[in-house]
Amino acid sequence: MQKRIVVIGAGFAGMWSALAAARLLDQHDVSCDEIEVVMIAPEPMLVVRPRLYEDVPGKMAVPLLGLFDATGIRFVAGTVDRIDTVAREVGIVSPSGESRATLSYDGLVLASGSRLVRPDIPGLLEHTFSIDQIEEAVELDQHLHALVQQPKSEARNTVVVAGGGFTGIEIAAELPSRLRRILGPAASVRVIVVEKAADIGPDLGPGPRPVIETALSELGVECRLGVSAARFDAQGVVLSNGERIDAQTVVWTAGVRASNLTQQLPAERDRLGRVLVEDDLRVPSLAEVFATGDTACAATDDEGHTTMMSCQHALEMGRFAGNNVAATLLGQPTLPYRQTRYGTGLDLGPWGAVHTTGWDRQIIMQGAESKARKQWVNSIYIYPPLADRTTAFEAADPLGKRGGK
Ligand SMILES: Cc1cc2nc3c(=O)[nH]c(=O)nc-3n(C[C@H](O)[C@H](O)[C@H](O)COP(=O)(O)OP(=O)(O)OC[C@H]3O[C@@H](n4cnc5c(N)ncnc54)[C@H](O)[C@@H]3O)c2cc1C
Repeated sequence: MQKRIVVIGAGFAGMWSALAAARLLDQHDVSCDEIEVVMIAPEPMLVVRPRLYEDVPGKMAVPLLGLFDATGIRFVAGTVDRIDTVAREVGIVSPSGESRATLSYDGLVLASGSRLVRPDIPGLLEHTFSIDQIEEAVELDQHLHALVQQPKSEARNTVVVAGGGFTGIEIAAELPSRLRRILGPAASVRVIVVEKAADIGPDLGPGPRPVIETALSELGVECRLGVSAARFDAQGVVLSNGERIDAQTVVWTAGVRASNLTQQLPAERDRLGRVLVEDDLRVPSLAEVFATGDTACAATDDEGHTTMMSCQHALEMGRFAGNNVAATLLGQPTLPYRQTRYGTGLDLGPWGAVHTTGWDRQIIMQGAESKARKQWVNSIYIYPPLADRTTAFEAADPLGKRGGK
């Protein structure tokens, strides 16, 4: 009887999981009639989330059907809303929401990613934009372009970015020039970052901070540190210290949490809702279930470091999870996931970028050179492989030679 590997989610981790599973089956001359790989996601598209702070966010999605056809992966359009680990099946809601289906599995990879957290702050849901999902980034972009039709005012030309972490810094650095392209080169624009912590980029640590501070200051981005957004309304935001900022645009960027589907697995989770997985990315106590990318927290080395919710880790974790779910069905040994090199590349808009290495984030590159590297990563390195079976399988090898390892 045909067996089935189901991968939930067509993001970085899911795409590489499906390819790596198909690759290992191919290497063992196992046909799709014996074990099929099925990818379930709302759309057969890879949304390049790390680029959603850029201009024209609607372009940041890459079609995947050609790649899936070339590698024998079956795509099912829908959203998984139920995982039954006893019956070994998932419940799927069709894209229109009108019909439901059930699909059984012999091996499962959960790769449904993460979502921006929207805490219960008055007015947040009604009056803030975000760049977490592609449709949200497009909505912000359309709103920015519509500002030019509004009567001139300081509030029209002001954007508040709530959250001064990685994403908040990247969009804030981009916004002054983006606003001037829309409102005119002479427009007096204000971009203000509001960050609860005493420092900008609190999770990035002190290493890259001087560069971030210099870049934001030279770009004219203001920072309000040690205060949080207390209330949002149609005219702007009120901060925890009582200050009111009039702004027609507020972008919420603070906090991300793993997909809710992680709660359906009988497993321990961390404070971000990620499943604590074993070395081979298996969910403890579920021999045939793996979690990967933003849904999983895994050790990256033997020194106590664990994965971040990042593309850098999702790409590699995907390759290992897919390989290992297929290995389990084939009765082959699984591979322990390890990714000892760690680095960050933060875009700082027209100022450039900053790259760091190591968990203490020592700066290795900044300015224009760093920007060129960031653009290469964003527009080439993280994109899917060619829709060609040989190329795709070569790239899906978890032990292949790549810069990020
Ligand atoms: C603005 C922004 C900038 C970023 N910048 C960087 C950066 O510079 N560097 C970096 O390393 N990381 C960055 N990240 C983080 C990075 O994008 C994520 O860590 C990465 O996308 C995680 O990959 P993933 O495959 O686990 O999840 P995702 O990319 O979130 O993909 C999840 C997939 O699952 C699907 N899905 C979700 N729920 C279901 C369901 N119930 N049923 C079926 N399918 C489902 C989704 O449609 C999607 O296809 C950034 C993120 C954002 C938002």
